[in-house]
Order: sequence, then structure tokens, then C-alpha cells
Amino acid sequence: MQQRPRTIIITGGTVSGIGKGITAASIGRLLMNQGFSVLPVKADPYLNQDAGTMNPFQHGEVFVTEDGAETDLDLGHYERFLDVNVDKTSNFTGGSVYQAVMEHERDGEYLGKTIQLIPHVTDEIKRRIDLASKPNPDFLTVEIGGTVGDIEALLFIEAARQYRTEHPSRVISVHVVKMDYLYPSDEAKTKPIQHAVTLLRSYGLQPDILIVRCKREISPSDREKISLFTGVPVSRIVAAQDAESLYEIPAKLDAHGMTKAVLECFPDVHPTNGKSHREEWATMLKKCKDRKDTVKVGLVGKYIDHSDAYLSVIEAVHHAGIAHGVHTKIVPINSEDSNVAEQVRKVDAIIIPGGFGNRGIEGKITAITTARTEKIPFMGICLGLQTAVIEAARNLAKIPTATSSEFDEKAKEQVIAFLPGQEGLRRKGGTMRLGSYPAVLTKGSLAEKIYKQYRPDELQGQTISERHRHRYEVNPDYHEALTKAGLVISGMSPDGHLAEFIELPEKTHPYFIATQAHPEFRSRPNKPHPLFAGLIAATRK
Ligand code: GLN
Repeated sequence: MQQRPRTIIITGGTVSGIGKGITAASIGRLLMNQGFSVLPVKADPYLNQDAGTMNPFQHGEVFVTEDGAETDLDLGHYERFLDVNVDKTSNFTGGSVYQAVMEHERDGEYLGKTIQLIPHVTDEIKRRIDLASKPNPDFLTVEIGGTVGDIEALLFIEAARQYRTEHPSRVISVHVVKMDYLYPSDEAKTKPIQHAVTLLRSYGLQPDILIVRCKREISPSDREKISLFTGVPVSRIVAAQDAESLYEIPAKLDAHGMTKAVLECFPDVHPTNGKSHREEWATMLKKCKDRKDTVKVGLVGKYIDHSDAYLSVIEAVHHAGIAHGVHTKIVPINSEDSNVAEQVRKVDAIIIPGGFGNRGIEGKITAITTARTEKIPFMGICLGLQTAVIEAARNLAKIPTATSSEFDEKAKEQVIAFLPGQEGLRRKGGTMRLGSYPAVLTKGSLAEKIYKQYRPDELQGQTISERHRHRYEVNPDYHEALTKAGLVISGMSPDGHLAEFIELPEKTHPYFIATQAHPEFRSRPNKPHPLFAGLIAATRK
């Protein structure tokens, strides 16, 4: 039987929202920097089948994997920190676990037994962890969503306890907690941490490492106290102070003994050569520090005050800034404001990100008209491409009523439409065109140029691949009219049917490009995505 990878179970206590995901991703990065291979898992106890049906306003963006899973945004942190493409085994939810158990029951797979939370549900949770371990990395990080004590998460914690009992020398528990500070004296208080660990221990999980989110160094006496009450050795109480940039967190944790603490827990593993990983990360951080000037990028959308809804887009802009030696400031532009055009004129470039429904659409179209006619660098993502096509249809091809069937099912001029043959996509969950699809780029186009410049290794002849998440398409009946009016369709599905990229010729506009895909998911801090890198480059001319 295959040995389990060394597995690090990461839970959170005291309060929610203390950055378990970033912490888990940072632990992964630190191990990678020691030469280990690492895969991440996020186990979300909630009852949705996946994150696909969740409101980005409440839950942040839906992150899409290469193989088309709609996942929690933490998977984005994992991909960016570890520079890996994860797959659908990397995220599973309580809903999908229960669903699987119910289906096994209907299929008679339990041979007449009484189906119980323990062992049937916990077995299914462990089976999911095993599934994610299949590629056999040196380390697997398993982050359990929510906060210990949430009723929803009980079975996940119990499954983790069983997993550790079954593989004693290969599984450790890392608990992320927060130091409390009294008001108004600002005195550090360890009691909430003691209680959080007591709770975790009451479920049978003794933490091996405590990561303490804190605003200043933990005093020696507080460390002693935490250690005494939690049973975690002082050397494995790791302070995690805020960092200026997310990407500095691995180094900060390392400086506070994180790598040492993990290796101490696995005395039989020995670092190999992670030098190249350490160096590339350090180079990126140095570039980050050396930046001058600031480029203002307007993000035109409807959830604009909830930046987690556009997390990967914002990160991708940041990466492109690092590559070009500039700071990037995201300027939220609410597409429902009455002065969108004025706001667009005040920034150096705009992005129209993905979205659903017709709220704020006219504002987005106004933003595109302004960017197109006033030669402001523009980039459109998914709905951003669709609105750019509607704008071109109305104002260049002179089809004033052009729209999308998503906004008006009965409209006559559906330049964006639900195409025949896609009927199966009408249900809400997991039914869109999801995951990686190829596109053939037109020779001599801007799209081809930027891929050649920033990701030459990804071009297979004229073909690249990007991740998708959408239902509607540019209606092929209008391709000719749009092209005649001056819009260039610069990337197509290999069968020549679906528009994947559109642009304006470089001689008429400094940078006007959009894609039906979501390029933001493949941007990395040390490897910007061509579309974003090209956008920032255009603002520097
Ligand atoms: N709502 C559009 C569609 O379903 C665009 C989706 C998106 O931007 N991700 O096609």
C-alpha cells in the first residue's frame, strides 16, 4: 500500500477569518523552499456541494481549477504560493461528502448496515484526503474551513483525529489562533488561546504547533504560559505578525521558527535542495520592494466594495506590477454610479472582470466606450469580453439594440447568446463551461504577441489554454458583422466556432483586449499573466 504523505492538518481557533488559508499556503511554500513537493487540500464543512453556487459578495470569488472544479478562494492562494495547478480533489465540502454517503446507501454499498456519522461520514472524509494524496507528494496540507467549535466542522475534526491515530508518525496538527489585547491598556492576554486549545483537545486533537496571530512579539512569559496550558513546546509556538504583502508571510513565519517546528515534528524527513525555489521567491520579493511609481487600475464591477469577490484579478494586477517595477493601486469603479466615464478618465487603465446578471451592465458599456474612444488601456474578462462585444456591436457595427440573452431572453439582437447544444448548462450548480479549454490565436495579433512575450513556453504552435466559467458565448451569427466593423477576433476555439479573444488593432488603440476565459487564475507572483502584464506595460508607454 502507498505510504501516506506527511500530512499537516490545519485548524483555526479563537476567532474566524485569521488567515488560515494564507498560513497553510505559507507553510506549503516553506516546505517547497526546502526541496519538498507539496499539495494542498481545503476541506470545507458547509453543505453546498461546491463553492460554485455561493454569492461572491458573502464568500469571495469562486476559484476555478484546470479540471473545472468551482472551489474556495483559498485554492487561489495555494496555486499562487506553490506555483502548482491543483485539481478537483483539492477542495471538498460537507455537502459533497454527505451526498456521496447518501448515494452509496442508495446503491446498497453498505450491505445492510446502519449508516452513521461515525464511521461512514468520517470514512468518506478520510477517503477524500487519501484521494488528494494520490500523486504522492512529500507533504499534504489539509486546511479545515471554519473555526473549531462550529457544529458543522465536528465530523471533519473527528476524521482528522482518526487519521492521525491511524498514521501516528505521518500526521500533525497545526492550530492557528489569535492573541487577544485588552482594551484600553493593550495588554496581551493568552486566555482565549488557552480555551481554544482546550476545545481542540476535547475533540482528541493535541496540536503539535500553534501559530499565534499577533500584533507584536509574544513575551517570553506569555510563551511559557501558553505552552504550559496547551502542551505545545515553546519552540513550536510560532508568532505570526502582519506583513506588508501576503508574499512576505512565508519569510516572516520562517524567521519565527515555522520551518524548524515542522521539521522537528517529522524527525525522519530531511530537506533536499530547494535553493531554486528559495531564490525565485526572494527575487520576486526584492522586485516588490524596488518598485517605483504607481499605476492606477480601475476595476469596474458591481461587488466592487468587496474585494474578495475579485481576489485573483487583484492579485494578477499586483503580479503584473511587480514584473514592471510599479506599485498598482486598484480603483474600484461601481458600474451603477452615474459618473462612470469621469471615473474611467482618472485612472491609467481599466479592467471589466467577470460577472453574472444584468445589474450595472450599462455602466460597464459606458466604461468601455470611454476606454475605447479615449484610448485608455482596457482589458475584459469573460463578462468583460461580452460587454465589449455588445459595445462594439452597438457603436461600431451600428446595431443599437445589441445585447446578451442573459440580460434579455427575448431580445432580437442577441450578440451574446446561449448557444444550441448547451441546454445541459441550465441548472445552477457545476453546469457552466468550466475548466481549461484551448484557443487558437491569430498570427500577428496582440494576443499572440503578449503570450509570446510573457509565456512563450505555453504556446503550442498557435494554441494556448485558459480556464473558463461561463454559460453564454459570442453569437457566431455576428462574427462577420463585428469583424467588418473593426473588432478583431484574435482567438477562437479550435473548431473555429467560439470567440475566445477579441481586440482592437494596435495601430488604433494602445491596448484593448478581452478574453472569454479567466486568465487571472493562472497568474503567479513571479510569473505574471500575459494579459495583465500587457495592460500594465501599456500604461508605461
Ligand atoms: N454571465 C456570463 C456568462 O455566464 C459571464 C460569466 C463570467 O463572467 N464568469 O456567460
